[in-house]
Parts: sequence; C-alpha cells; structure tokens
Amino acid sequence: MKQRDKLGQIQQHWDQALSRQKFPMSAMYHGLTEEHQRVPWRSVMCGNKARLRAVICLWLACHKKLSTKDRLRRFGMIQSSDCSICNCADESINHLFFNCSGTREIWGNILDWLGRRHDPREWDMELAWIIENTKGKGWKSALLKMATAETVYNVWHYRNSMCFGTVVDKQVIERNIIDNIVYRSWQYPTLRSHVAKLMM
Ligand SMILES: [Zn+2]
Repeated sequence: MKQRDKLGQIQQHWDQALSRQKFPMSAMYHGLTEEHQRVPWRSVMCGNKARLRAVICLWLACHKKLSTKDRLRRFGMIQSSDCSICNCADESINHLFFNCSGTREIWGNILDWLGRRHDPREWDMELAWIIENTKGKGWKSALLKMATAETVYNVWHYRNSMCFGTVVDKQVIERNIIDNIVYRSWQYPTLRSHVAKLMM
C-alpha cells in the first residue's frame, strides 16, 4: 500500500494487471520496484566472488549502515565520534573508507598489487570510481569487485580491533586481503592465470 502513489508512474503495468483474469501480484511487484530501487553500485555487488561475509559488509557500507561512531553519536549512544584509527576526524563511512590516514594506505597497496594506478579518495568518490571500473565482465572488473569487498570487510575489522584496544599490523591486514582474493580466484579458471601473474 505504501507504493500506491507510484501507480500513476506505471500505468501500463496496472492496466495490464487489470486486463487479466487473475491479478498477477508478482508482476505488479516487479513493476513497482524495478525502476525505483536500482542502486548505482549494483555492478559492484552482482557476481562479486568475495566471501559472503565480505559482500554483506560491503552492502552495509554502500547503504551507509555500518555502525560508525558518527551514527552511534547521532543515536545518543556515545559522546565522541573521533575516528577509532587516526583519532583526527569524525568517524564516518566517508572518512573510514578511505580518507583515513590509517586505511588509505591499505587500499592504496591493494590497488598497487592489482596494477591499478589510482589514488584513494573518500568513500563517495571512491565508490563512483569503483562502479565505473566494474561495469565490464572481464577479470580486471572481477578482481576489483572482490578486492573492494575484502578490503571493506578487513578495514571494518581493523577498526573494531582498534576500538577494543587491540594492536593490528597493517601488513597482516593487507596480506589477509590478498590471500583471500587469491584463494577465492583460484576456483575460477578465467581468473586463475591472471592472479598467478599478480603473485609473481
Ligand atoms: Zn581516521
């Protein structure tokens, strides 16, 4: 019922539905949702071969629903929203991925490993760049998608560790991201040879 105001925009679907003997609820649902709920970062999520937990973490980041300190402060749960990693800025999605001095280097090194010449920027701009570079179906696009999900997941864990006072070596995080990309890619013959070259 919340979608009823949108019916005017999809008159064609409505007329078709009424002209049938049986009301096709599924056709109406798709008619109502397909135009309005397509997100620009669809290409980054579709067919992403990273671990499911990493893809879910990326999905939350794209929706800006990770519990960063700026959100927690807005909900009145904490007083300070200083970044858990650098302590120099408000901890938001835009800052944490990858404007923060502590995480920019990680993403920069992963991009270097992938052979991408690109300077990391803050999340909104970085996501736009990632979307632009993951539109194709080739191996470069597949690896960048995986790298994005695995990096967001590992950076989020890094941030959580820092929150609880655990010291984490950034080189271990980078190694972990690369290991996961290599391990996952190895299952796909179309990616295996390209990843093997990156490892040389
Ligand atoms: Zn920071």
